[in-house]
Formats: sequence, C-alpha cells, structure tokens
Amino acid sequence: IVRVAGVAKTFTMGSQEVTALRGVDLTIRAGEYLSIMGPSGSGKSTLFNMIGGLDKPSSGKVFIDEVDIAQLDAYELAWLRNRKIGYIFQTFNLIQVMTALENVTLPMTFAGVPQDEATEKGLELLGLVGLRERHAHKPQELSGGQQQRVAIARSLANTPSIILADEPTGNLDLTTGEEIIALLKRLSSERGVTVISATHDYKMLNVSDRVVWIRDGRIDKIEERDQLHISVGTIGAKED
Ligand code: ATP
Ligand code: MG
Repeated sequence: IVRVAGVAKTFTMGSQEVTALRGVDLTIRAGEYLSIMGPSGSGKSTLFNMIGGLDKPSSGKVFIDEVDIAQLDAYELAWLRNRKIGYIFQTFNLIQVMTALENVTLPMTFAGVPQDEATEKGLELLGLVGLRERHAHKPQELSGGQQQRVAIARSLANTPSIILADEPTGNLDLTTGEEIIALLKRLSSERGVTVISATHDYKMLNVSDRVVWIRDGRIDKIEERDQLHISVGTIGAKED
C-alpha cells in the first residue's frame, strides 16, 4: 500500500547542507501496524513528510497504491492528503478558534460532505475517542491528551486507509498514551487501517506488527514483532 524506494532528502540552507535521509527502502503492507523507532534527528519526521506528500524527496520515490506521488498534480495530491491519509502531528495542529467538532468536520467540509452529515460523523468520531460530550470545547479548554484525541478523530474524518502518526504519544502522560496506542491498534485490527507511527515510546512495540529501526537517515534493521529483541519489560536488557 505504501512503498518507499531509495528515498533521500538533503535540506540546503545557504551554503549549509543537512542530509536527513540517505536512501530508505521500505514496503508497508495494507493493514499493518508499523512503528518507526530511532533517535532524535534520525529522519523519522522527514520520512513521514515524504510519505504524506508534505515535502518532496531529493531523490527516490514514494508510491501509494503503486502510484508515484511525485506524478500527481496539485489537485490529486490534495485529494490524497485529504481522503487517503490521516496525519496525526506531534504538536496536534488543531485550529484554536474552532471547537473540537469543527476541527474534526473541517476535512469533511473540504471533501464536500454536506454539513449535517459531517456533524453526525464528527460526533461519532469524537465518541470513538471518548470526547463526544466535549465537542463544543476549543483546544485550549482541553488537556493535551484530549487535544491529541481530537487530532486523532480529525485524522479519521474521511476514513483514510493510512494513518501517519508522528509521535502520537509524545506529549501524553502514561495512561493517556496507553489509551491512544490501544485506539490506534483497534483501528488497525478492527478496521484494517494501515498505521505508521514514529515513536520513542517502547510501549508501542507491543502492538506493532513490525518495527523499523532508523539511524542517521538509514534503516538499521526491520524486525517482525516475534523477532523483537526488546520488550517493555526488558528495556535496556539487551543492546546491539
Ligand atoms: P525527532 O525524534 O527529534 O522528532 P526525527 O527523527 O523526526 O527527530 P527529523 O525531524 O526527520 O528527525 O530530522 C532529521 C534531520 O533533518 C535533522 O538533522 C534535522 O535538523 C534536519 N531537518 C529536518 N527538517 C529540516 C528542514 N526543514 N531544514 C533543515 N534541516 C531539517
Ligand atoms: Mg520527529
């Protein structure tokens, strides 16, 4: 469903160059729950931006359902980002002047869904993340974890087949983080959504089908869940 082929990315600022990705090859299966782990600065967010079509690789290609997204025109790319991919940002990126419900219905409005239908679905999605009764609240009236849950509800607005979650538990306390992980896992196992999550959270490993370890812009190794050399109970117990 997602194929990354030889993707490299170098940022140029004046005379300075920063290489964030150095040739990444990765095929993600439909319905898979994939975690991308790696130290800060290893290129996780950059890779997400390439997959989500928010930025272009310096070389290499990203295919979504075997379509090279570099070949899409602006309209097709916007469609892909609005309809096929749900993006959960580390910093939520909610619109502060809008209520939780309005934030969730916005992508549906962009997609041309009639307002009453969007409202109904928006309330349903807020219900899914346990926030239906808080629909009229604006982001600053909600806790960080609640805002993250609104962002997750928003990412589901147009029933995406792929969710890109960049550190979805990064700003959350332990319990809320566990709830978010369980919710993402449920979307993947019950609805067949492909979840790709960048994380520092070792608890995420327990629900992942595969874990991609990335270091310095390269894939270090890819492990199936049953091969994982590390689990929450044994953090630090074994080091390569
Ligand atoms: P973190 O875990 O801290 O979120 P990350 O793995 O997501 O880190 P990236 O944000 O992908 O890391 O950054 C990878 C490298 O690319 C870093 O050295 C970063 O400084 C650089 N980088 C990212 N975006 C840009 C940009 N727009 N311009 C210049 N350099 C950038
Ligand atoms: Mg990042």
